[in-house]
Amino acid sequence: MARHHHIRSEQILREALDANGQRFTGQRAAVFRYLLATDSHPTADEVFVAVRSEVPVISLATVYKSLETLVGCGLAIKLTYGDGSARYDGRTDPHHHARCLACSRIFDVAGRLPADEIRELNPGSEGFQVTGYRLEFTGFCEECHEASLGTDPATECATGPATDPTGEPGAAAHSA
Ligand code: ZN
Ligand code: MN
Repeated sequence: MARHHHIRSEQILREALDANGQRFTGQRAAVFRYLLATDSHPTADEVFVAVRSEVPVISLATVYKSLETLVGCGLAIKLTYGDGSARYDGRTDPHHHARCLACSRIFDVAGRLPADEIRELNPGSEGFQVTGYRLEFTGFCEECHEASLGTDPATECATGPATDPTGEPGAAAHSA
């Protein structure tokens, strides 16, 4: 991340923590920087592994608490799923997500639905006060979709050497 972005993100973090009566710490800053720099919607474990290379003393518990603090300050979004897992998103502008059912990766989907289409759903009909909405597409990412179309590994193994364009015997024969 460019230096001026670095300084600006720290300023944003300081102000948000201050406004919420929270203390600025280098560890919270490292967690926030990582979240801003990735669009992978990482789990707390993934953030821990990534930030540990920069802040070796950080613990998983600190990462988890830092993430929750960022969410509480409105600097990150927590995406929760039915199996109890959670992912974090440093992107807080209105956007939606597409979730791969095979590899669980989350992709950003830009764009907004027309306001009149949302109104047509009438979410406030039972006196519910709507403050926002989220749209999640589910399906299969490009990689997982392509993998599902490919031949299965066992078949590939059996036919691989025979279809070798060089006409040479397989690698196993060479090393034998
Ligand atoms: Zn996938
Ligand atoms: Mn996102």
